Amino acid sequence: MIDGPVRRQLKRVGLYVYYARLFLHRLQADTRYELGGECGRCGKCCEEPGIQVGRVTWYLPGFRRVFLWWHRHVNGFVLKEARREDRAFIFECSHFDWATRSCDSYDSRPGMCRDYPRPFLEQANPEFLEGCGYKALARGRESLIQILEKESLTPEQLAKLKKGLYLED
Ligand code: SF4
Ligand code: SF4
Repeated sequence: MIDGPVRRQLKRVGLYVYYARLFLHRLQADTRYELGGECGRCGKCCEEPGIQVGRVTWYLPGFRRVFLWWHRHVNGFVLKEARREDRAFIFECSHFDWATRSCDSYDSRPGMCRDYPRPFLEQANPEFLEGCGYKALARGRESLIQILEKESLTPEQLAKLKKGLYLED
């Protein structure tokens, strides 16, 4: 379902709102990691995009309906599952071409697709999808590596610590 001009305009409005909210959120977010690596264009993150929502959207039927309507009719996200344990909606994206593993409307993709996988960097131990070319890197890792290298550690111990502490570039 390639986006037409109307949907593109609506998505642009959604994008501005998304970026404004993201900017405010990131002002107070934990920034102990930065994003390393690069996208290998495997398309795995498009197989079933998920969105975690707050209590208001989850529990109030009016908010939930508007939220799901927007994602269905503007973003092209078809609801697959409402996962109660982490208040997440899991979708199937109608823009994802499973044969070419690409997005048919990449230029007008929603903000969450543009920002992916940065939200994982806010986790205490960031975990990306298996095979994803991105990774989390601890900020200020150079000085921590220098300290570790002065310790009498075996190469195996050092490698394990670097991996566990997200120090590997
Ligand atoms: S899973 Fe990672 S590497 Fe694959 S397309 Fe998504 S961001 Fe790119
Ligand atoms: S809109 Fe495009 S980038 Fe976003 S999940 Fe769908 S296929 Fe992937």
